[in-house]
Amino acid sequence: MPDKTLTCRDCGQTFVFTQSEQDFYAQKGFTNEPSRCPDCRAARKASRGDSYGGGGSSSRMGGRREMFPAVCSRCGKQTEVPFQPTSGKPVYCSDCFRSPRGGSSY
Ligand SMILES: [Zn+2]
Ligand SMILES: [Zn+2]
Repeated sequence: MPDKTLTCRDCGQTFVFTQSEQDFYAQKGFTNEPSRCPDCRAARKASRGDSYGGGGSSSRMGGRREMFPAVCSRCGKQTEVPFQPTSGKPVYCSDCFRSPRGGSSY
């Protein structure tokens, strides 16, 4: 197989797809020719590596969830629930939620 000259789809420059690279691709089972020059391939790899390393932990701040105002279906008290209350579904304040049977313990 002779060397091939291909055009990079990112920078538009021509690059050589060498015999050994073609062999390598064939071994890997790739049927497509490379669409980017080695430079652009390296750049893409590098940019991916960057995003992997620096992790932001901003989402862990506070630890308080968003609360929605609601009225307890049982005692009518104003309360807040950590989910969007949907009409038709009962919402309980923390007191009623903890004792769903209302203490009727006979
Ligand atoms: Zn390129
Ligand atoms: Zn209640």
